[in-house]
Amino acid sequence: MNEFNLEEKECQCEKCIDMCRHITCWGTPSELNKIIDAGFGNKLMIDWWIASPEDIYVLCPANIGFELKQAPYHRDGLCSFFTKDNKCEIHNIKPVEGKTTTHDFYDSKLRDKISKLWNTPEGKSLIEEWKSKFGVKE
Ligand code: SF4
Repeated sequence: MNEFNLEEKECQCEKCIDMCRHITCWGTPSELNKIIDAGFGNKLMIDWWIASPEDIYVLCPANIGFELKQAPYHRDGLCSFFTKDNKCEIHNIKPVEGKTTTHDFYDSKLRDKISKLWNTPEGKSLIEEWKSKFGVKE
């Protein structure tokens, strides 16, 4: 189960796979911490959620070419964890959005909830630790 008590799905339809081809999934700080601990920290990027008074930064799987960088302004690109046979390289520890979103790109209400978990001392500190570990300057 996940922190939001959302049903987890295993859908492999083209629409679901398309999310991994275009927009990478978001997860909670504890999920991203697990991905870093599993040795995949070098395949993450920093995305952001537009908020007031300031945007919230979120660590997430990177689009190919944006590993250890800030997400592209136009988020459209293959996820760095998407394999040649249309699978997720981190299937067992994939972020909550990848586990629960079905037939759509993303659920903005879920993104809003996830972003709130990053707008905490724990979330901000995980991003700073990740930047420091991998020498990310952005
Ligand atoms: S981490 Fe896995 S589920 Fe999430 S976008 Fe990448 S390939 Fe898809």
